[in-house]
Amino acid sequence: MFKNFRSVEKCAYGRGSFDKLGEIIDVKRTKDAPNMVFLVDDYFKGKELEKRIPLQKGDMIEFIYAGGEEPKTSQIDELRDRIQATLGTPAGLVGIGGGSLMDITKATSLMLTNEGSSTKYQGLNLIQKSGVYHVGVPTISGTGAEVSMTAVLTGPEKKLGLKCDWTVFDQIVLDPELTESVPRNHWFYTGMDCYIHCIESMTGHLKNTFSEAYGYKSLDLCRDIFLGENSGQTPENDEKLMVASYMGGLSLTYSEVGVCHALSYGLSYVFGTRHGIANCICFNQLEEYYPEGVTEFKEMVKYHKIDIPVNLSNDWTDDEIERMIDTTLNLHHMWNHALGTDWKNIITREKVRELYMRM
Ligand code: NAD
Ligand code: ZN
Repeated sequence: MFKNFRSVEKCAYGRGSFDKLGEIIDVKRTKDAPNMVFLVDDYFKGKELEKRIPLQKGDMIEFIYAGGEEPKTSQIDELRDRIQATLGTPAGLVGIGGGSLMDITKATSLMLTNEGSSTKYQGLNLIQKSGVYHVGVPTISGTGAEVSMTAVLTGPEKKLGLKCDWTVFDQIVLDPELTESVPRNHWFYTGMDCYIHCIESMTGHLKNTFSEAYGYKSLDLCRDIFLGENSGQTPENDEKLMVASYMGGLSLTYSEVGVCHALSYGLSYVFGTRHGIANCICFNQLEEYYPEGVTEFKEMVKYHKIDIPVNLSNDWTDDEIERMIDTTLNLHHMWNHALGTDWKNIITREKVRELYMRM
C-alpha cells in the first residue's frame, strides 16, 4: 500500500541532551509569539528535572496527571481553551512525559489551530491546518509516540487517533537519562508495547522491507534488553530501549499494528485499561496469530517475574463484551493488515468474543 508520510523534523539524542532544550526552542520564539507552553507529566513536579526546564518569563507550565485514564478529547479541548485564554497562540508546545504526554502535546498543537472539538478530528487526515511548533521529550520508552503520526485520544464514541502529517513532532529530544525512574512494571509493559509493535508490523499484509528493517533492529534491541546477558533496567538498556521505541514506531508507520492492538483498544475503551498492560493481557493469549512472538514474550514475562492479569473475562458483563467487540471491529485498518481484505469473513463477532473470553 502506498504511503507518503512526514518524519520528525529534528531529533536530538543522547544522555544529557535535555540540557540543550532551551537553545533548541528559543529560536522559535518570535516578537508576536514569544511564549512557550510546557506540558509536563506531574510525576516531575518538585523533582530535579523541574528545575532544569528552560522556562522564560511569560511561559506557561502545566503539570498533567497521566496515572489515571488515557488522554481524552475533552481534556485536550479544555487545555487548548486555557492556553488560548492565557497566551493566545503560543510560539510552541513542549511535552515532557510518557506516551500520554506525547499524545496530549501533539493533539493540543493541532487543536490550537483547528476549530471546534477534537472529537471532530479523530481519524485519518481530518485535520485542516498545521498545528503550532511542538517538541516531544519522552520520559518512558516504548510507545513510539515520539515518532508516530498519531495522537491517540479517547472520545465519547471511540478511542482513535488524530492522524495526519501535522501530528508529527517538529523536534524530539531523546535523553535516556530521563527514563531511569520509570517503575519496573511500567518499564516492562511499555517496553512490550514496542516489542509488540514490531511483531505486528512485521507479520501482516502491509509488511515490507522498510518496516522490516526498522522492526528487526528494534527487536534485536528488545531481546538484549529483556532476555540478554545484561538484561534489566540499566542505564545501557535505557539507551537501547529509547532507540528501539523510535525504530518500532517507524516500523509500524510504514506498516500497521495488528490483532493485539485491535483487541487492546477494546479493553482500554471499555475498562480504561492502560495501553501497555492492555497489550500484554491480549498478546498473552494470541499464540494462534503470533506463535513465535508470544512464546518469546512469555519468556520475557517469566524472566522478569511480571504478573500479567488472567481470568479477567469471568467478571465481564455481556454488555461490556459487546462494547469491546464493537470497538475492535471498527479498527478496519488493523484487521485488514493482520488478516487481509477478507478479514470480515474470518473475524466474526463470535470469534472476537472467543478471543476476549480467553483473557
Ligand atoms: P504514560 O505516559 O501513560 O505514563 C504512565 C505513568 O508513568 C504515569 O503515572 C506517569 O506519571 C509515569 N511516568 C512517566 N515518566 C516517568 C518517569 N520517567 N519516571 C517515573 N514515572 C514516570 O505511559 P506510556 O506507557 O508511555 O504511554 C501510554 C499512552 O501512550 C497511552 O495513552 C497510549 O494510548 C499512548 N500510545 C500512543 C501511541 C502513538 O503512536 N501515539 C502509541 C502507543 C501508545
Ligand atoms: Zn502500542
